[in-house]
Amino acid sequence: MVSKILIANRGEIALRVLRACKELGIPCVVVHSTADADAMHVRLADESVCIGPPPSRDSYLNIHQIVAACEITGADAVHPGYGFLSENAKFADILEAHGITFIGPTAEHIRLMGDKITAKQTAQQLGIPVVPGSDGEVTAENALETARKIGFPVLIKATAGGGGRGMKVAKTEADLDEALNTARSEAAAAFGNPAVYMEKYLGKPRHIEVQVFGDGEGNAIHLGERDCSLQRRHQKVWEEANSPALNVEQRMKIGQVCADAMKKMKYRGAGTIEFLYENGEFYFIEMNTRLQVEHPVTEAITGIDLVHEQIRVASGGGLSVKQEEVTFEGHAIECRINAEDPRTFVPSPGTITHFHAPGGLGVRIDSGAYQGYKIPPYYDSLIGKLIVHGRTRVECMMRLRRALDEFVVDGIKTTLPLFQDLVSNQDIANGDYDIHWLEHYLANHSA
Ligand code: ADP
Repeated sequence: MVSKILIANRGEIALRVLRACKELGIPCVVVHSTADADAMHVRLADESVCIGPPPSRDSYLNIHQIVAACEITGADAVHPGYGFLSENAKFADILEAHGITFIGPTAEHIRLMGDKITAKQTAQQLGIPVVPGSDGEVTAENALETARKIGFPVLIKATAGGGGRGMKVAKTEADLDEALNTARSEAAAAFGNPAVYMEKYLGKPRHIEVQVFGDGEGNAIHLGERDCSLQRRHQKVWEEANSPALNVEQRMKIGQVCADAMKKMKYRGAGTIEFLYENGEFYFIEMNTRLQVEHPVTEAITGIDLVHEQIRVASGGGLSVKQEEVTFEGHAIECRINAEDPRTFVPSPGTITHFHAPGGLGVRIDSGAYQGYKIPPYYDSLIGKLIVHGRTRVECMMRLRRALDEFVVDGIKTTLPLFQDLVSNQDIANGDYDIHWLEHYLANHSA
């Protein structure tokens, strides 16, 4: 086992990882910026180290400070959470060079999946179905020929992409030049790399992702899927497991394809293989080589603690379960509670004047928020997650409705009212939605 873990993150995920460390009896250190000195995870940690001022580049992204904090406190492993340095191969390399365990995959696998073109080529070689598209980069010279071969509409995407930036649709040949030029300049501005590639644009897909886990030695399992189709500007808002769109056979089939691919790769740790799903077909879009925000819905239906599992694998202890021991019980839904206006999604930092979280059977809150907590304006606006589990999807929705009724967060605006609306919506009740549903709903139900 690793003997002391440093958590290089903040907010609800730092608390989530801290809870796992405590349950495993492993001492934990947190690092924090000056803006987070009063955060719950800092209060609960065994040790804490202030690593810099509020801007992320000076604190949570400051590799030198984080490595120094490991050396000062004697931490021999780092859990990066999600975001920040979690998919930074250089960080994984530097930790290794210092003899510190990175709780995650190898730097090589992070790099492979970090570039969208190589990720797609790798997925294809590993037997994962991909979206029809260009062989590598598209340029002004080959764009028209490539688009004709794929068939319009096409989507132009940034090779170095993330967060939906540098992505443009060309419906017809007439749109192609403009779409290509805007995608390239957006990509250059956002990622310092103008390279783009092309894919068939799917009209009404769902976003379905498969949770995988590997031991790094060639053994790997899948933990079923999550449906994250309810998105706004490519940001997930509501996630569920299992997907209302899949039956058991489809689940086990795509899960096995993903697990087999991870075996071939000798993948280590937690990963998520993201697909668009349309007309019964899966199309790979990317792989995230880290823990995801929405991992608790998988934990709810499988009963497996994914952070325990990450720490176990990083310690060389292998996976705690075999594929045939994994079961999927009931249904779980996660709502991301953001400190934002529920209609405009404009961030709403400030002081929480009153906080009451719901409880009861099947209700989990992952949040560091408390009464009197001042949400700093420097970071993303996720202040917590409400995860509800029921024996059936209907029970889960009823439980979610009553949990939302109990939830009080005063003093700031939150996305709670949006979830109150969604939980009463007929399409949502029917599980009948695609990746565009929420944008249309918001456009038609503006305040
Ligand atoms: P990013 O890394 O920028 O988030 P992704 O490749 O994960 O990019 O895609 C983000 C979102 O963009 C998807 O969840 C989906 O909503 C949309 N998208 C991506 N590829 C396609 C496609 N080929 N057709 C239609 N929509 C797509």
